[in-house]
Amino acid sequence: MSKWVYSFGDGAAEGTRQMKELLGGKGANLAEMSSIGLPVPPGFTISTEMCAWYDRHQQSYPDALTGQIEAAMQKMEQSVGAIFGDSQNPLLVSVRSGARVSMPGMMDTVLNLGLNDLTVEGLARRSGDARFAWDSYRRFIQMYGDVVMGVAHHLFEEALENLKLDKGVDLDTELDEKDLRDLVEMYKEEVERTLGKPFPQDPQKQLWGAISAVFKSWKTDRARVYRRLNGIPEDWGTAVNVQAMVFGNMGESSATGVAFTRDPSTGERAYYGEFLINAQGEDVVAGIRTPQHLTIKAREAGKSNKPSMEEAMPKVFGQLVGIFETLEGHYRDMQDIEFTVQDNKLWMLQTRSGKRTAKAALKIAVDMASEGLISEDEAVMRVDPAALDQLLHPTLDPAASRDVLTIGLPASPGAASGHVAFTADEAEARAKEGEAVILVRVETSPEDIHGMHAARGILTARGGMTSHAAVVARGMGRPCVSGAGALRVDVKTGEMTVGGRTIRRGEMITIDGSTGEVMAGHVPTLKAELSGDFAQLMAWADRARTMAVRTNADTPHDTETARGFGAEGIGLCRTEHMFFDGDRIIAVRQMILAEDEAGRRRALETLLPHQRQDFAEIFHIMRGLPVTIRLLDPPLHEFLPREEKEFAEVAAVMQVNPEHLRRRALELTEANPMLGHRGCRLGIAYPEIYEMQARAIFEAALHVGEQSGETIIPEIMIPLVSTVAELAFLKERIDAVAEIVFEEKETRLTYLVGTMIELPRAAITANEIAGKADFFSFGTNDLTQTTFGISRDDAGGFMPLYIDYGILSRDPFVSIDQTGVGELVRMGAERGRSTKAEIKLGICGEHGGDPASIHFCHGVGLDYVSCSPYRVPIARLAAAQAALEAKAALEGGKA
Ligand code: ADP
Ligand code: MG
Ligand code: MG
Repeated sequence: MSKWVYSFGDGAAEGTRQMKELLGGKGANLAEMSSIGLPVPPGFTISTEMCAWYDRHQQSYPDALTGQIEAAMQKMEQSVGAIFGDSQNPLLVSVRSGARVSMPGMMDTVLNLGLNDLTVEGLARRSGDARFAWDSYRRFIQMYGDVVMGVAHHLFEEALENLKLDKGVDLDTELDEKDLRDLVEMYKEEVERTLGKPFPQDPQKQLWGAISAVFKSWKTDRARVYRRLNGIPEDWGTAVNVQAMVFGNMGESSATGVAFTRDPSTGERAYYGEFLINAQGEDVVAGIRTPQHLTIKAREAGKSNKPSMEEAMPKVFGQLVGIFETLEGHYRDMQDIEFTVQDNKLWMLQTRSGKRTAKAALKIAVDMASEGLISEDEAVMRVDPAALDQLLHPTLDPAASRDVLTIGLPASPGAASGHVAFTADEAEARAKEGEAVILVRVETSPEDIHGMHAARGILTARGGMTSHAAVVARGMGRPCVSGAGALRVDVKTGEMTVGGRTIRRGEMITIDGSTGEVMAGHVPTLKAELSGDFAQLMAWADRARTMAVRTNADTPHDTETARGFGAEGIGLCRTEHMFFDGDRIIAVRQMILAEDEAGRRRALETLLPHQRQDFAEIFHIMRGLPVTIRLLDPPLHEFLPREEKEFAEVAAVMQVNPEHLRRRALELTEANPMLGHRGCRLGIAYPEIYEMQARAIFEAALHVGEQSGETIIPEIMIPLVSTVAELAFLKERIDAVAEIVFEEKETRLTYLVGTMIELPRAAITANEIAGKADFFSFGTNDLTQTTFGISRDDAGGFMPLYIDYGILSRDPFVSIDQTGVGELVRMGAERGRSTKAEIKLGICGEHGGDPASIHFCHGVGLDYVSCSPYRVPIARLAAAQAALEAKAALEGGKA
């Protein structure tokens, strides 16, 4: 016969904390607390399997359930010394829902179940406190009526409020027995009036009604929506806990409260919580009366004159503190606790690992390891890498007031204040004057890069989480709010309007890229704290991980930032951004629009010293560490002039007719540029471009090597290769340039030539390509685009729908699609290694900074991941967790 019911109480339990799947989180922990001897009111848990059974059988129950519940009920009755439904000495229970993880949307708890017109009198006589009995009864009708029977909550509230008005009192506690009797009558009438049937008097009916209500609540729309948003499977189901009541509403020596064993917002080792004297259950959070602090210290900090629990109930408080210690020692984590005091006796009603801010998670993990409660490896496992994001950027001072104009998408975390600039040039010019600037655009494009760099933050009216603004801002570590749709930007008049308000050029605004808020004026920020606990946890993480973490950086500034965050080299240095910088773009345009090779070479001559300088600075900052430089990748037309003025500018320099240039520009236009003349195809059509870049790299590396005395090992990376022949063609030319430069300088250096694996054909033929490559870097952005055949820039139209419908569980541009794109990565790695065992393997797409993708990369056996500077610490932690998990799995497998 199946077992559906698990009892707990009196220092024993049939369940354990490991049984969360079966008993739900609340039930498993009640059982655990009971077994370790903590004072838990006795009760039983109906397992989550019953939830599925109930559903499969048209909302009915197996015959065996009744007997099991009766037996468990009898056990409770013996333990408490009262009988369920007895008119002289009634046992009352609570009915509480409880899934594996706590879940809003589930049925609210019903307290004081078992009361009716007869048992309430018995309770009054036994307790010697009629007011308490009637207070419990009116609470029960209100809760059961609302939660189980569906009578609108406010109907009860109104009756209560009216009564208090009539009596001229403010608080529920000021109502006397007679008032509460009247209230019960009113409540019962309310139920009859609304439902056309009386409030159930039979305690058995009440019990089964409440149990069924819990199981039904698993299927409500509210619960479904929550599950979908949080990825909780439908088939988990909820458990039901039935537990003997203890009463916090029995006068001045009774109370109810909630507590954390450490401060959940700072992580400080200070008990934190609230309690209310003469109250029940949800009164503390309901805000009917202002709750009191637990400790003297907290009361003083909160400037409250109401006594803390430490003062009002010193003995019970002492016991509670003892239990905090026991629970932390037992669970080895910060606990979130619910308790009740009945006539100076303490009862535990719930414990679970407490939710906490990123800051608190970090502090608690490091503190607990230092206290010896957990190991350093466990501390590494305790912090969510994604949450570190909050800590790496400045945040808004929570105490400051905010004048919120609108809310857009939280596209790149961190907060910044600055004067509004509407063009990139203006942003750059103002920043040069030392002003803090927020660049506001309808949307950004590659030409805005310099302005984005100069700005403290970026705000756009259009574009999603993977728009140009969002991706570039994240890469640069600039806060960004994108897609603020309510915003009207008028570059001509130099103003933006939102919600009937106008902000003019130069006025101050503040954006919070972690929440999407856009605010008027300056809001003070708090700086990121990267020493102390943060540094300690990172040190433990670095010891645990096996993959290296590099960064994607194209500028000295980003390189510096990344090194500060612990990057162990550059995995991707794009060279195209360098082409936009300052006056270079004119030379670049000259090169593109030139009629012949000679013309191109002339323009490239002008670019060479600039490129050399760029590389030298980056090599210098990263000295001692590897630097991978990708040769020019984007389609040339991205660099072309757009406006009249720009055509005229280039034409003047080239001494040709602007009309002629426009024709040439037209020739370069492509129907599908992302699959067009770009990547290594450019290098093959115009070898002189890659030759110039290779020369700049070698000259810079030799120069910095000589100056710093450190060996610089440049890694030259060819983009968009699909066949080994492309790579062979280009490698031969790069090697030839190397020889020329080495002869000129009369020294040599070691360098690597490798390729991106970012096209399916490259992954499939990786065994061939490896013959010509020293390393592979998986470019999973393009690999995702080309594997799915989805353009990242255009996915915004349907991707949210795909996620919503569950067609894709996550955006594959954010977290790697392990079964499809990931399989190509795995294949590429395996085939590459089959040809060249020592080939270096890394990843450099946006995925390099995504914890789930990093886990995947560890599994595939990549040597390193590369991500934007601000994600470096996240990647270090995620790589450590992946290594520790793999180790644990291996040891588990052996055992
Ligand atoms: P939630 O999951 O919403 O926290 P709970 O089932 O934990 O709901 O119940 C909420 C509150 O009700 C508890 O914190 C506790 O104060 C009170 N409560 C629940 N069961 C009992 C009980 N058997 N005796 C006294 N109070 C109870
Ligand atoms: Mg609770
Ligand atoms: Mg690419």
